[in-house]
This record gives sequence, structure tokens and C-alpha cells, in this order.
Amino acid sequence: MSNVFTHVETLGHEQIVYCNDPQSGLRAIIGIHDTNLGPALGGTRLWHYSSEEDALRDVLRLSRGMTYKAACAGLALGGGKAVIIARPEQKSEAMFRAFGRFVNSLQGRYITAEDVNTNVTDMNFVRLETKFVTGVAPALGGSGDPSPVTALGVFAGLKAAVEVRLGRKDLKGLRVAVQGVGNVGKYLCQYLHEEGAKLFVNDINADRVQEMCSKYQATAVSDSELYSLDIDVFAPCALGAILNSKTIPALKAQIIAGGANNQLEDEKVHGKMLQDRKVVYCPDYVINAGGLINVYNELIGYNREKALSEARNIGATVLQILKIADRDGITTHEASQRYAENRIQAVRNLKAMHNVASSAVGRMMHP
Ligand code: NAD
Repeated sequence: MSNVFTHVETLGHEQIVYCNDPQSGLRAIIGIHDTNLGPALGGTRLWHYSSEEDALRDVLRLSRGMTYKAACAGLALGGGKAVIIARPEQKSEAMFRAFGRFVNSLQGRYITAEDVNTNVTDMNFVRLETKFVTGVAPALGGSGDPSPVTALGVFAGLKAAVEVRLGRKDLKGLRVAVQGVGNVGKYLCQYLHEEGAKLFVNDINADRVQEMCSKYQATAVSDSELYSLDIDVFAPCALGAILNSKTIPALKAQIIAGGANNQLEDEKVHGKMLQDRKVVYCPDYVINAGGLINVYNELIGYNREKALSEARNIGATVLQILKIADRDGITTHEASQRYAENRIQAVRNLKAMHNVASSAVGRMMHP
């Protein structure tokens, strides 16, 4: 128990909820990191953790990440996340309905969504027990595929980085390599092609590569060529940890702007390595926040045009973050954390002001 408090205090979490329902086999942990900006929103990851300690560590790390992501995206949301300790084949309606009841018991302090190994069907079961869930089927009021919105945010962030690093606003002839042309990568290719960029694509799925080559005159590149290509921008849209001590020294790109999560193998070491090489790295959780912006809009009454327009604002946020990094001589990853913390602090101060107004003295003065 003291161990949990130590973890929680170190990372600054507000609340950790252990959920246990032996009948359905549900064992889950909900992590609420920070609700200064709004209710804590974050997906539910289902994973066969080798220990409870691993599950706790993951939920603490992921929920904290959501606080920063929502703060940078300018949303009225805090950070939260949930993990269910199970194998995918153990999933059942009862398990997700039991989970939905726990989520409901928090009365909106935590709002859930899909994540690794959970999908729309699972969220539809959660929805039977609570309204505090997003990413449900469009028929139940869901917002549908977030990928075009995510890709537009990545595109806007990429353009901002091009403006700062290369001093140009257009993308004509800009050489961009996209790793992973799945849901996000394929839309990113479309946006880039429409503005005249020259595309290089890599994917383990040959059909997807072929589609990009025929639709957007992209050039297919092998795994061994990818990291050392003579390009302006590298857009990782497949895997995490691909920016590491092996790949960074080979990179010729001056900008990294892609949708994949957790691109830096080690945030400190590899963020610094990129800074030293004068490569502008657009922090992944800032640039890929379009998906979160999309589900936020689902909560407040969905309008795709509004979600797309808010995703475009990621460009302005990236400009500000790059400015902070340059001004303070820090990595872009550190700059995005500073940007998020400043916003949370400003709103926290505002809350203190409200508290004074509703204090006993305040009430005596304004009966
Ligand atoms: P996806 O599964 O649709 O696409 C991923 C693509 O990467 C697939 O085409 C896959 O074949 C390819 N791929 C897998 N391993 C590869 C490898 N070793 N080399 C090259 N290609 C490989 O997923 P997605 O929804 O497009 O998401 C892509 C990334 O963006 C993920 O990291 C995801 O977490 C992140 N992300 C997605 C969204 C969203 O809205 N979909 C939002 C935020 C972040």
C-alpha cells in the first residue's frame, strides 16, 4: 500500500481506483492523474501484465501522459487512463459492463475510450452502464474513425515545423518519408500529395504501399533505406521507439513529424540527441492529438468540421512549442511539457481565485 502512495506522490496523481469483479473476471486499475483542466479522459488498455506492479506502473505513466496531451491540445480535459489485466481472449460483455459500472461510479471524473486491445464493440458494452465513455459506434452517438482528424493535426504540425526549420510555407517538392501508411499514414499522404510534396513510403503491408504509389505517385522504400534517405521530413506513423541511438545518427531529415505514439525510445537521451543534431522533432503527443480532439468533440456534441478545424490549430501550438524550445535552449519534448504545465498552472490559479470568492468571508460580504 505504501508503495502505491509513493508512486502516486512521485508522479502527482489525484486518484487510483482498483476495480475487482470476480464473477466476470474483471481486474482493472483506473488512474486519474490531473483534473485541473477538466474530467480525466483516456482509453482503456487491455494487457496481460506479468504483475500488478507492471499494470500500476503502466496506468500511472499513461494517465500522466494524457494530462500533457490534453493540456497541449487546448482541451478542457484532464488526464486519465485505465488498464484491464487480462488476455484478449478473456474479453466478455460481462467484463466490460462490470468495468462500465466502476467508471460510472466516478460520476464523470474519468471518461474512458478505446485503446490497445479494446475496440468499439467493447466500448458499446461499457456504454450500457455509463455515459462516461467515448469512441462508441456512430449509431450510439460516436464520432467514427478519428484517423483523418489525427492526420490533419500531424499535417498542420509538420507544416509549422517546415516554416520554422526550412523557412518556407509551401510544400512543393518537399521530400517526405512516411513510415506506416495505415489509417493515419494514408490520410497524411493524401494531404501532403495535395500540397505538392514528394512522397516516400514504407510499410510491412505491400498492398498499402502499392496503393500510395498509384494514388499519389509515392516511391516505395525498403526498411534498410528508410532511415538514411535523403529527405526533408520523416513522418513515423507506425511504431513506437523508432527514434533511438541506432536510427538517429543515420537520419538526414531535418524535421520529424509523424502520428505514431512514443517515437523516442528514451525521451531524455534521444530528445537531446535530435536537438544536438539540429533536427526539429515535433513531440508525438502534441502532433497526434487530433484523435483526442475528435473524442472531446464527441462529448460536447459532435461536428466533424469543428473537430478538423481544431486539429488544424495544432500547427499554431507546434509553433509556440518550437519557440519555447529555442528560447530556453531545451528539447522540444521538454518545451511541450513546459507549455502544458504553464496552462495547467494558470487554470489552477484561477480555481484558487474562485475558491476565495466562495469562501466564508466571501459569503459574508455577498450574502
Ligand atoms: P494502423 O494499424 O492503421 O497503421 C499502422 C501501419 O503501420 C499499418 O499499415 C502497418 O502495416 C504498418 N506497420 C506496422 N509495423 C510496421 C513496420 N515495422 N514498418 C513499417 N510499417 C509498419 O494504425 P494507425 O491508426 O494509423 O496508427 C498509427 C500510429 O499512430 C500508432 O502508433 C497509433 O498509436 C498512433 N495514433 C493513431 C491515432 C488515430 O487516430 N488512429 C491517434 C493518435 C495516435
